[in-house]
Amino acid sequence: MKHIETIIIGAGPCGLSTAIELQNRNMDYLVIEKGNIVEAIYNYPTHQTFFSSSEKLSIGEFPFITEEHKPKRNQALVYYREVVKHFNLNINTYEEVTSGRRAEDKFILETSKGKYSCSQLVIATGYYGQPNALNVPGEHKSKVHHYFKEAHPFFNQNVLIIGGKNSSVDAAIELEKAGSNVTVVYRQGAYSKSVKPWVLPQFDSLVKNERVAMHFSTDVVDIKDDSVVLEKEGETFEIQNDHVFAMIGYHPDYRLLTSFGVELNENSHGVAPLHSKETMETNVDGLYIAGVIAAGNDANTIFIENGRFHGGAIAEDIQKRK
Ligand code: FAD
Ligand code: NAP
Repeated sequence: MKHIETIIIGAGPCGLSTAIELQNRNMDYLVIEKGNIVEAIYNYPTHQTFFSSSEKLSIGEFPFITEEHKPKRNQALVYYREVVKHFNLNINTYEEVTSGRRAEDKFILETSKGKYSCSQLVIATGYYGQPNALNVPGEHKSKVHHYFKEAHPFFNQNVLIIGGKNSSVDAAIELEKAGSNVTVVYRQGAYSKSVKPWVLPQFDSLVKNERVAMHFSTDVVDIKDDSVVLEKEGETFEIQNDHVFAMIGYHPDYRLLTSFGVELNENSHGVAPLHSKETMETNVDGLYIAGVIAAGNDANTIFIENGRFHGGAIAEDIQKRK
């Protein structure tokens, strides 16, 4: 079994930023990533434009320069690859951490390729791998998707989008442009304040011009092969349907955290791991969290923009322990 001083699980922007901070302090570390680096960004919609400016997505003070103010997914993939090359970070890709346990003052990790021990553990596994469940009949049919990539396959198709935040609105705009017959259902009575203010007017204009059918205060009650049954203010109605995009958010996988004894804290947004906001250390001595996993079930409080600074706080705290 190999011993590493600090292991970081997850090579998303926030895990990578933590690695740079440890490396800059000449500390021993290894990042273990189940896919390739920035796997979540790779899985974004192909033509996604970030809501953040390039500068706010940059890590390790390595400049991210794009001609446009807000970069696209592909530019971010290039940027993070360049970051890894520039800092020559220690990363094991395509290795999944499958379980872990505490042994005296160490953490023992089992992965798809081996076994490690470490004195400090940083969990930066994000949330994008775990889509939320709808809990309605028919949700496991192959026509129900939780990730939107590209619009072309949905040309001339009846598409239902569930959810009322950024993923739903972005997918609706792109699908309508590609000639899909788009219906959006949202369980709330009005647009969410989370929808980016420069995107909402474009979407609302499609609704006002009847290019997209928008139903507020509406839930999906059944997903059938060729239709969906919807319920709006106590009334049910059925519409023709070929494909469903359940853009209803994602949640962290807490199993690893709880297996080490990290407590989950109920807050106004749902559940989040108990941790210090100053050091990002959890209630388990030497176990830290970095990035969006710290927000728990609320995807609208921690982003790359602020999660990229968790690594600095963590590295500083680890240095103090030595
Ligand atoms: P992630 O990037 O999700 O990284 C977690 C990594 O952990 C992944 O690579 C995953 O493969 C790996 N992993 C998970 N489990 C294991 C395991 N058991 N073993 C090994 N590896 C594991 N934020 C912004 O600031 N600005 C934006 O403009 C913006 N746009 C967004 C657009 C979309 C469509 C989405 C979905 C999110 C956006 N966000 C944005 C939010 C933010 O980008 C992402 O949530 C970001 O990727 C979070 O970074 P992270 O490092 O915390 O986690
Ligand atoms: P999200 O912000 O978590 O929104 C999920 C939506 O689904 C909410 O409207 C929620 O309703 C609804 N919902 C949740 N569970 C439901 C259920 N069981 N049934 C019906 N509706 C349900 O998810 P997201 O839009 O995918 O965004 C995830 C993250 O990605 C966010 O950080 C976001 O900012 C980011 N993002 C960024 C961009 C961009 O940069 N342009 C684009 C897309 C996403 P309520 O409103 O009632 O909670």
